[in-house]
Amino acid sequence: MPELRKDYILNRWVIIASERAQRPDQFKQELPTIKKQDNCPFCPGNEHLTPNEISRREKNGKWYLRVIPNKFAAVTSEGNGIIQTHNQFYTFGNAFGKHEIIVETADKTKQLWDLSAEQVTELFEVYNERITSLWKEKGINYAQVFKNHDKAAGTSIMHSHSQIIAYDLVPQAVQDEVAASKKFPSCPYCDIILKEKNSARRCFENKNCIAFTPYASRFPFEIWIFPKKHSTTLDTTENMKDLAELLLQALKKLKTIHAPYNYMLHYSPFQENLHCHIEVLPRLTTWAGFEYSGTIINPVSPEDAAKFYRGEK
Ligand SMILES: [Zn+2]
Ligand SMILES: [Zn+2]
Repeated sequence: MPELRKDYILNRWVIIASERAQRPDQFKQELPTIKKQDNCPFCPGNEHLTPNEISRREKNGKWYLRVIPNKFAAVTSEGNGIIQTHNQFYTFGNAFGKHEIIVETADKTKQLWDLSAEQVTELFEVYNERITSLWKEKGINYAQVFKNHDKAAGTSIMHSHSQIIAYDLVPQAVQDEVAASKKFPSCPYCDIILKEKNSARRCFENKNCIAFTPYASRFPFEIWIFPKKHSTTLDTTENMKDLAELLLQALKKLKTIHAPYNYMLHYSPFQENLHCHIEVLPRLTTWAGFEYSGTIINPVSPEDAAKFYRGEK
């Protein structure tokens, strides 16, 4: 029987319709869906094709990680972040902010899931550096870190990269989590972690972090990763190292089915107390009409998804 489930704390509903369930390998995608570019702007030697570099990490004079402005930016430094209202129906502003690309490796043959835990930890350090730096800028309230892997997840360049869009708004998804968390006497995610630690949805755990498939998963094989100890940002090197390790473990499973995916880093907005986490959203199905009504149908139960991550299925 399909089951209606509500998100832990948000007013967000899903229908887990696992009757139609398929085995994980039935979700296996074709590879590659994007052709390799001859003149890839993210490859070494093509640095002149990108706007002026923001930062890099290098070894023996060669970069292995690079932060650059997005040439096709969704938000720009022109104008300001002021929101105006013409009348009760038209509210607008300049899309003011910074849009950055983080090229995760110089090696075009590698995807994020092929990198080492050390490399992914370093990527998190760079996320943290950029968030800290962007946060200080005028007209910027939040730096949304995200990744699109493969065409179905919205990328057009296969060379492994993540992105940051920093602007005046706190993303609605983060605002909703902050508002819902405030209805609890203490951080609800700390309690959710304790519950999921002993549930059928627990996937992996290490000293500082835990990964589980959320109770009301929207996407087949959706997985969330949290620092176990309450923390509003990526915080300590130990947290980053352990988060990186679990993210990599999850991505390596997704690699077996060539899954396109997005992930989003949710850290706490300024002066709020949101429990920092990463949400990984595999993009193996297409949303149909009903999903746009607000309730999402997910053909894979999070309990089955957890078995896939634990290697039991
Ligand atoms: Zn490239
Ligand atoms: Zn917490």
